[in-house]
Amino acid sequence: MPERVLFTPAALNEVWGQQILARVRSLNLPIEELSRNRLTGLRGESERDTYNIAKRTLAVVTAPPSSFKLSPIPPSADWQFHIAEGCPAHCQYCYLAGSLSGPPVIRVFANLPQILENLATYEQPGQVTTYEVSCYTDPLGIEHLTGSLAECIRYFGTRQNTHLRWVSKFDAVDGLLDLPHNGHTRCRVSVNAAPISGRFEGGTASVASRLQALRRLALPRECGGGGYPVGLVIAPIMPIDGWQSSYGRLFDQINEALDFDCDLTFELISHRFTPGSKEVLQTWYPQSKLDMDESNRSVKRNKFGGTKYVYDSGTMKALRYFFEGEIGRRFPNAKLLYWT
Ligand code: SF4
Repeated sequence: MPERVLFTPAALNEVWGQQILARVRSLNLPIEELSRNRLTGLRGESERDTYNIAKRTLAVVTAPPSSFKLSPIPPSADWQFHIAEGCPAHCQYCYLAGSLSGPPVIRVFANLPQILENLATYEQPGQVTTYEVSCYTDPLGIEHLTGSLAECIRYFGTRQNTHLRWVSKFDAVDGLLDLPHNGHTRCRVSVNAAPISGRFEGGTASVASRLQALRRLALPRECGGGGYPVGLVIAPIMPIDGWQSSYGRLFDQINEALDFDCDLTFELISHRFTPGSKEVLQTWYPQSKLDMDESNRSVKRNKFGGTKYVYDSGTMKALRYFFEGEIGRRFPNAKLLYWT
């Protein structure tokens, strides 16, 4: 629950903004109506204060015109779109550090109907077009405040050849189970080995709860579940001491949660960081024990001149061999979408 909820005048002019207002009112959260469409006054005395204030603030705003021009998001999906930016959790390796600028306030977009309507212009006739909605937020982590993820699932349920993908580290899926998704939404949870999730993923649901949520989403409707296609994103994978046994135990938990036939995918992402993300993460989490020592890493450059630090090729090969082997052996019907 945020400590403050801010609404811009533009957001209050939107029907979806009014829907969010009704939700946050019913939760008795303190609401402030801003006089202008700019967010100000979110900085504290130190970077750490700014972080604390921002993470406890939900701002309901309208997505700017630039967000209607979508970007591709390989290998996860054809396109990414955004219903919000920012996340209430506190992962010390957070993917958003370095991607979003300014204080990490949670911005929710009130012009959702226009955002959804715009997606149709990116559909490719005669083939399935996929859209990822969790690049800049954890959509389930704020769903109780917005209802926006459910609205996306309903919308994609009405489209032909258009599929939605989302991923979360939260577990409140009750409101999603009965939606008319038509098999067009793949729900994924992000999981990790216990020493990593326990140490680095503050403010999230436990891995066991995420897996129970995934089980409920995947179970057939006649068994009380959501009947969704589902997936696991194992990320960020780290070669911690005893990683084979730690990740082996994670696979045991996955086996137990998904002990029935379902449409299942895996995505495997090894830990990486950039100079920019390291700098931001070190101001957000100055005491963190997360290993971001460049001297232990290989440098990977992208075509735009950006630099990423990844594990060396020997470590990558060993990790990949292990994960591909475990998935092949334990989940022969699942599809492994990518390793990166
Ligand atoms: Fe960042 Fe995802 Fe953790 Fe939220 S759940 S803090 S977006 S890594």
